[in-house]
Amino acid sequence: MAPVAQRVRGTQDLLPADRPYWDLMERAASETAGRAGYQRIETPVFEASELFKRSAGEGSDVVSKEMYSFTDRGGRSLSLRPEGTAPIVRAYFDGGLDQEPQPARLYYVGPFFRYDRPQAGRYRQFHQFGIEAIGEVHALLDVEAIQVGWEWFRRLGVGDLALKLNSIGDEVCRPAYREMLRDYYRPHLADLSEDSRLRFEKNPLRLFDSKDPEDQPYKERAPRIVDHLCAPCAEAFQIVQAGLRAEGISFELDPTLVRGLDYYTRTVFEFQHGSLSGAQNALGGGGRYDGLAAELGYRATPGIGFALGLERTLLILRQLGESAVEGPDVYAVALQPADQAYAGRLASSLRARGLRVVLDPGEARLDARLRKAARRGARVAVIIGPDERARGEAVIRDMRLKTQATVPEGEIVAAVTRTLGEI
Ligand code: AMP
Repeated sequence: MAPVAQRVRGTQDLLPADRPYWDLMERAASETAGRAGYQRIETPVFEASELFKRSAGEGSDVVSKEMYSFTDRGGRSLSLRPEGTAPIVRAYFDGGLDQEPQPARLYYVGPFFRYDRPQAGRYRQFHQFGIEAIGEVHALLDVEAIQVGWEWFRRLGVGDLALKLNSIGDEVCRPAYREMLRDYYRPHLADLSEDSRLRFEKNPLRLFDSKDPEDQPYKERAPRIVDHLCAPCAEAFQIVQAGLRAEGISFELDPTLVRGLDYYTRTVFEFQHGSLSGAQNALGGGGRYDGLAAELGYRATPGIGFALGLERTLLILRQLGESAVEGPDVYAVALQPADQAYAGRLASSLRARGLRVVLDPGEARLDARLRKAARRGARVAVIIGPDERARGEAVIRDMRLKTQATVPEGEIVAAVTRTLGEI
């Protein structure tokens, strides 16, 4: 008999073996963001499609190809959120956060959805940790945002991290640069990939996103926006670089780094990892989006933020080979059915002391059950047979040293704790 349905393409189950990594990433998120004054926000997983269409503007793949949109029973067009920033800006105004002391510092961890071609490191449902600081334009907030991201990776032990940095100017200096870029590319149009020819029309900055080999030589010789910034953008960019140096955060200037969405202004950045290949080497990125609020119909309000991918970070954590999977402290084994109740009582009293205790329900041979305890990573086994039950004792076995001792009931907790402490 075949199962009636398969897991949907591009989705994944989060199985218990990966849960500890996930907990690690979430804890690191709430601690690093929390310590910098960021508070958690949750927005719905679906929103009016218009929110994303307006924020993304022309020429964005996220809108043109990747959105999960549907019409609900009331005839409204809704979309599963492909990214976090536009919903948070909406919530910032909806929830009156604009009336509180500025900037509002917010962070989130949650699922996002893009109808992209699934492959390693790219899924249709994936998760991001992100922060947003909204309502204040100072470039020191850009430094702060980058620092929070940097610190998150550091806490997780992710080394070999490259921070790419660029400024893409604002509505004052970018239009002229965009024309300069068109003038540069126009004579070469016939040699460019088809995607690039489309981008030339819609949004020439995105020509830099091309991975097509035939486009690469042109990228290298293209005029650089950092050479054509207006004075306020140039000054902000200097503050960002000086701030990062002061924090000891190393970065590389990358004049071809642009973000996929149109509302970004000034600072853009990306965290890349050496071990991830090609198009999927970005663990996350972010930037300033001073144009977004007005684009969404709100009062013009600056903002800066990033989004980091949990699935791609998980790939690195797994590669690091460090097992985040913690076994139970204690694996309790009752040798015979009549011993189960006594073993259960001991397990409960150990749990009441804060220990993680797994009670083996089986009746297999002791050596098989001890092998199971070892596979689960238990550090101590508590073994109860008829003799131990009759005398009110238990055998405490150190799973690593493979030594064991019989102790009276009143000393079991102390003996287990001591054995755990010795490991
Ligand atoms: P973006 O919002 O496109 O800047 O993406 C930020 C980060 O989210 C990326 O660097 C990835 O780590 C992660 N990410 C984006 N799209 C996907 C996806 N389809 N599957 C898995 N991770 C993704």
